[in-house]
Amino acid sequence: MAAGGGGLMDLPTITTVEQARTRADLRGMSPDCAFLAGGTWLFSEPQNQLNRLIDITTMGWPPLTIRDDGLEIAATCTIAQLVAHDYPAEWAAAVLFRQCADSLLASFKVWNAATVGGNMCMGLPAGSMISLGASLGATLRIWCPDGAERTTSVLEFVTGVQTTSLRSGEVLRSIHIPAAALTSSVAFRRISLAPQGRAGSVVIARETSDGPVLCISAATKRPYLIPARSGVDEAVPESAWYEDAHGAADWRRSVTALLAAEALAALGGAE
Ligand SMILES: Cc1cc2nc3c(=O)[nH]c(=O)nc-3n(C[C@H](O)[C@H](O)[C@H](O)COP(=O)(O)OP(=O)(O)OC[C@H]3O[C@@H](n4cnc5c(N)ncnc54)[C@H](O)[C@@H]3O)c2cc1C
Repeated sequence: MAAGGGGLMDLPTITTVEQARTRADLRGMSPDCAFLAGGTWLFSEPQNQLNRLIDITTMGWPPLTIRDDGLEIAATCTIAQLVAHDYPAEWAAAVLFRQCADSLLASFKVWNAATVGGNMCMGLPAGSMISLGASLGATLRIWCPDGAERTTSVLEFVTGVQTTSLRSGEVLRSIHIPAAALTSSVAFRRISLAPQGRAGSVVIARETSDGPVLCISAATKRPYLIPARSGVDEAVPESAWYEDAHGAADWRRSVTALLAAEALAALGGAE
């Protein structure tokens, strides 16, 4: 593992940045250490509790692998790489990659550095890679510090506002989107209070073999996947609606119901 250091950029408490090359390099996590992916959040605010970073972008994971059973996205794949790639023509749902990327309140600089995995690990309500993965039934592969590995769904992974089921020392390795989801019809709707503002609600409708489903995110503290036949108000608990400077909870709830109706109409070809 290569190491650098000596007061890094605008994080003055950081003395060492280790460039991970092998899985063994990812061990040795401690409370004063964090994994570094694109760094767009890590370098955006003080991290005074940290003095060491382990850079996972040096692991050499292929960003995107198209397989018969779907798409494997390395956690270190940038949002820009996800959007720029060519996908099989029958993957109708790949249209969501661009829509979800555009949904981030992010300049092109953030897009080029921010990783799909970093966005998921942040667990922010406006994390639109979370919306993407939740709507398409993605499976997350997580490397545990003892050498084991576990898988989970996005819906189980994100447990609340900036909280996930990731335990200390665990690394999100990859995100798998099944082929059946990628070939399904989808419709995307988003709203924010300001034209370029942070997402207030993101609703994605998707056709499945059991009928249409709705993925509700940004408006709620964590994503919800509900059958379209259930009303939004019935399926999403009152306590789930998120409130911050980018939208009041009651506004988010009412616009989400409207976006859900619009997305379902679009899915049914009513547009
Ligand atoms: C201008 C600007 C606009 C933004 N807009 C949005 C927005 O609209 N929505 C939104 O959700 N976020 C937004 N963000 C926050 C953040 O930039 C994004 O969430 C981004 O996707 C994080 O990815 P990253 O690769 O840069 O993560 P990093 O900053 O490198 O890491 C973020 C966190 O995740 C951990 N981490 C990263 N990858 C892994 C992994 N594979 N395994 C385990 N832990 C990991 C890190 O240790 C760190 O705690 C914005 C940030 C900026 C600066």
